[in-house]
Amino acid sequence: MNKNLTSNDLSHVIAADKARVWHHLTQHKPFESIDPRVMVEGKGMKLWDALGKEHLDAVSGGVWTVNVGYGRESIADVVRDQLVKLNYFAGSAGSIPGALFAEALIEKMPGMSRVYYANSGSEANEKVFKMVRQIGHRVHGGRKTKILYRERDYHGTTITALAACGQPQRAQQYGPFTPGFIEVPHCLEYRAQWDVEDYGRRAADAIEEVILREGPDEIGLLCLEPVTAGGGVITPPEGYWQRVQEICAKYDIMLHIDEVVCGVGRTGEWFGYQHYGVKPDFVTMAKGVASGYAAISCTVTTEAVFEMFKDDSDPLGYFRDISTFGGCTSGPAAALENMRIIEDENLLDNTNRMGARMMDNLHALMERHAVIGDVRGKGLFCGAELVNDRTSKEPADEKRVAAVVADCMAQGVIIGMTNRSLPGFNNTLCFSPALIATPDDIDAITTAVDGALGRVFG
Ligand code: PMP
Repeated sequence: MNKNLTSNDLSHVIAADKARVWHHLTQHKPFESIDPRVMVEGKGMKLWDALGKEHLDAVSGGVWTVNVGYGRESIADVVRDQLVKLNYFAGSAGSIPGALFAEALIEKMPGMSRVYYANSGSEANEKVFKMVRQIGHRVHGGRKTKILYRERDYHGTTITALAACGQPQRAQQYGPFTPGFIEVPHCLEYRAQWDVEDYGRRAADAIEEVILREGPDEIGLLCLEPVTAGGGVITPPEGYWQRVQEICAKYDIMLHIDEVVCGVGRTGEWFGYQHYGVKPDFVTMAKGVASGYAAISCTVTTEAVFEMFKDDSDPLGYFRDISTFGGCTSGPAAALENMRIIEDENLLDNTNRMGARMMDNLHALMERHAVIGDVRGKGLFCGAELVNDRTSKEPADEKRVAAVVADCMAQGVIIGMTNRSLPGFNNTLCFSPALIATPDDIDAITTAVDGALGRVFG
């Protein structure tokens, strides 16, 4: 029992949750016979649920979010101080934390210039789509409004973000969607679509083929995750990004990197694209920006993009968009302190060291468990793809992958799996601990997985 909850409180909380809360991404039928887990406290890498059970969190809050770990009093302090001073003001007026976080963020992003605040990753991406459409109308005479997205990538949950969704089952039954979004092939070499030496270049050339088919004059944007998250922890093959950049330049197509998962240290650089020497026109980020201490997302653009929205001779000549809660000061205040922590505690270095240890451990597990077909990762963002057979690469059954996750949970270690219930995408175990993870944490995670794989797959 948690120290803050009596058994009466607890039964009330669970009853209220069961009766009144509709959980995200959840089939509620099982909750008719079992109680949902209620998390009540966190510190560092650890979580405690309402029954007092301790968990080691290897997924940073379930969806790659709590980059600096739980229970950060300094973030709570700066947010509290800011809230009592000024919690909110919207529109053209600035705020102290909004200005200072934008300045600090752009220092980490050479070549980028402007920060547009909103609340979620989906929203940050929709801002880009709107900007691109407006540029198409204003600068290209109504052309270049089509947007390319990649198979297996995910950019959010709203109807337009789902139009850019490379995981078809996520979008099923939610159409009709916003038109003008076109899919390009994924770049996962393990599930190669071309039998060639230079796979990265070939996978990027496939994007060029789509551009030529659709007509370069119609396409304004290519939107990609630097490392695909929910679609399988897909690290790009050698040479991929260099060729992508060449193709964008050749056809005058702007490049949008969705850093909602990879951003703010997750991969061992401030941003995932910075590993690959890419120069984007747009970068979006959300989850790790304030590590879940406040809701904030950022759409970051170059100065060249910003300049296109400064036509005061035309009543339509600016970005006519607002997110009410983009005016909350708690977001940038938390984000600034989150960034200070990452810097002062050298968490990028730690991410690289601990990420390397995680990959070593996963490779060692691969030698012991034939069910691991592939391991992939960048920094503290790693995945192990499970297959029935290494030659056929037939994906392991979803229920058994889920059983591995459940076995780890029973051992007190929370790991993840790629999109449950999405055939073809749901066979990769995911590991994304907070950037503060220690060698002992990493070893505890992979030891739990070792035991779970042995029990579930033999
Ligand atoms: N982009 C990516 C790459 C994501 O993984 C997600 C969420 N998992 C989103 C966008 C959407 O973010 P949000 O849920 O905050 O809208």
